[in-house]
Amino acid sequence: MKICCLILLLALTVQGFCPAIQQTLRAATLPAQPVLDEVEDSDLFLQRATAVRSVKKDFSREVAALVARMTLEEKVGQMTQLEIGMITKGEGDNIQIDPEKLEKAVVKYAAGSILNVKDQALTVDKWHEIIRGIQEASQRTRLKIPVIYGIDTIHGAGYIQGSTLFPQEIGMAATWNPALMQRGAEVAAAETRAAGIPWTFSPVLDLGRQPLWPRFWETFGEDPYLASVMGVAFVRGIEGDDVSSSSHVATSLKHYVGYSFPLTGRDRTPAWIPENYMREYFLPPFAAAVKAGARTVMVNSAEVNGVPGHVNHQLLTDILRGELGFNGFVVSDWQDIKKLVTEWRVAADEKEATRQSIMAGVDMSMVPNDYSFSDLLLQLVKERKVPMSRIDEAVSRILRVKYELGLFERPLPDAGLKANFATSSSRAIALDAARESLTLLKNEDSILPLSKDRKVLVTGPTADSLISLNNGWTYVWQGNNASLYPKDRQTVLQAIRAKAGANVTYVPGVSFDKEIDIDAAVKAAQAADVAVVCIGEASYTETPGNITDITLSEPQLRLAERIQDTGKPVVLLLVEGRPRVINSIVERAKGILLALNPGNEGGTAIADVLFGDYNPNGKLPFSYPRTPNGLIMYDHKLFETEATSYGNMAFSPQFAFGSGLSYTTFEYSNLQVTPKTVAMNGPVKVSVTVTNKGQRAGKEAVIVYVRDVVATLSPAGKRVRRFAKISLDPGQSRTLTFTLRKEDLSFIGTNNKPVTEPGDFEVKVAGLTQKFTLE
Ligand code: BGC
Repeated sequence: MKICCLILLLALTVQGFCPAIQQTLRAATLPAQPVLDEVEDSDLFLQRATAVRSVKKDFSREVAALVARMTLEEKVGQMTQLEIGMITKGEGDNIQIDPEKLEKAVVKYAAGSILNVKDQALTVDKWHEIIRGIQEASQRTRLKIPVIYGIDTIHGAGYIQGSTLFPQEIGMAATWNPALMQRGAEVAAAETRAAGIPWTFSPVLDLGRQPLWPRFWETFGEDPYLASVMGVAFVRGIEGDDVSSSSHVATSLKHYVGYSFPLTGRDRTPAWIPENYMREYFLPPFAAAVKAGARTVMVNSAEVNGVPGHVNHQLLTDILRGELGFNGFVVSDWQDIKKLVTEWRVAADEKEATRQSIMAGVDMSMVPNDYSFSDLLLQLVKERKVPMSRIDEAVSRILRVKYELGLFERPLPDAGLKANFATSSSRAIALDAARESLTLLKNEDSILPLSKDRKVLVTGPTADSLISLNNGWTYVWQGNNASLYPKDRQTVLQAIRAKAGANVTYVPGVSFDKEIDIDAAVKAAQAADVAVVCIGEASYTETPGNITDITLSEPQLRLAERIQDTGKPVVLLLVEGRPRVINSIVERAKGILLALNPGNEGGTAIADVLFGDYNPNGKLPFSYPRTPNGLIMYDHKLFETEATSYGNMAFSPQFAFGSGLSYTTFEYSNLQVTPKTVAMNGPVKVSVTVTNKGQRAGKEAVIVYVRDVVATLSPAGKRVRRFAKISLDPGQSRTLTFTLRKEDLSFIGTNNKPVTEPGDFEVKVAGLTQKFTLE
């Protein structure tokens, strides 16, 4: 009898009828690496990715022995990071090591780190030549300590010609697929290491809760849980289980912390974030990524509550080290010790700024283009204004990461790794990621997918631009050097032409901020069956991307309006790094596809969606504002948008967080929460059935929200607590089971500590709601 039951149970499980059991079995037999398309909920992913790992090798003895032999000058050198111009001459392709400069930086000053920045992207061979030169110089120093080179590998290996480029983080967030994020990060790490570079300044774990901010697209969007899961996936992909291996590098979590929420929306300006909200929203992604093993952290260039990031002892030491348990090293951002004098004015001179910053917890200074830091820190230690113990602590942290990266054993680049660079399988992952990042926001009368035999007008400034598809941190800082982009990647226009050939007409109509010839575009629209209006933004990051109005530029809106006036159906394609307000053209648009910045494979991916060769499944990782001042997040307090006496209803987003359409229809049913009354420490099981009711296979991000009905701090209307990305064939159903724990029901109270309060909670999945009570 027992054996019969077991066989029946197994049969049901295999057929997918018994998902709870499937889930449990899966938990018991976690594979080492997640497999794409495997159904795994965000919690299982996080648990596995942050599980305590045995340290591959503990280098404490080597580090202590080395520090004991170092002079003060050598120690201060290790804490110094210089930019590439400090060791090279020449520009662009002609860049070369300058032997005298190199000798001064690496041998005389014993600089511990160098970084590349701004306007160069080198071939892998050129990188090998430069890194080899640097490391050979490091081997001429007394103690032969290797240099750690760092670059911004933001959406694929940075500053390297021909690297594989993925959607920017905001697009990866729209995939709701951490396994895919991890795979992409693995590719980025392998390509960075292939160039001989062992360290990247990524991921960005700032939250995108201020859409004006010019680095919005560098974030995983507005939700701290989604950002935590995706951030952890990024770290695991980049660092792997063995960071010394030839396919992994060290991460730097940035910009710790509170950088992304400036009051004015402008880069590097003040944020006001009370401690409880800092802990509720901005810290969790960093906490999760530290737990996942991240080896370095980069500091917030701006200030929070009047305290510049680089002198904030509470954040850099008490919380990061004491509470989060971070044991890697902390690097400053660009020139930020100097800026304590010139911008923030918390120190009268650079020497005092250096003291404050080192004592707050900065271990390495991205100086980056003079020797002031080394000279001043040396004086400070000699004058006993900075204790030697603090120097030893910082140097030990830096050396440990160098040991863990295998740099002492293998300082030189490995020519054999070139085979790992820009492979066709890497490109296929980037195409998958680009496709999954595309988010269909409107599809009236099923205007999409387009049939290939209709006459299509393609117009607008993002139609024929790889630069817009990629945005900043692409080859170079601002991503705007057209000559560095590959010739064999399709712009949107080229990809549409590849599908619909002679049926495609292209008239640009406008540039990003000026009219070219709107009348010509209107005329072409009259002769077409449908117009794809490609609008959005050029490339930018940091201060050059500051804006004073989030509305899309007037010429672009006018182009769309004039084409809509023709009565021809219009599909808007939005290629942009932040949600530019477009409300004047939404109502009359038949279709709206949000591409964000999908990378070099984006053109192909967009055409695949427009013509139905791929079924879109992205979901918005932020709230798309309807009006310039209607900036409101999905987790706002309920009264903020309810029809209360305040009449705040006007603050409704243009497109809500989590929205995204498919060419098939997913039906949600049978939401169950058990038990209905839960003991304080007891788990809550949430299950829901999703059925593909349409004609096409498709993927769906299932998002579980929880609302604390009454709490001592006015509660959010809902918060994301779990998600899972699934694939369903037509007619197929799947029941997912999620487990919520006490900490998923908590919030940071007025005493800045997490608290879980008894009372009623609501669980919401798609349109369904269930209640339970916590005792
Ligand atoms: C940015 C950082 C970046 C660094 C090095 C700074 O200006 O804020 O995000 O990692 O430059 O390129």
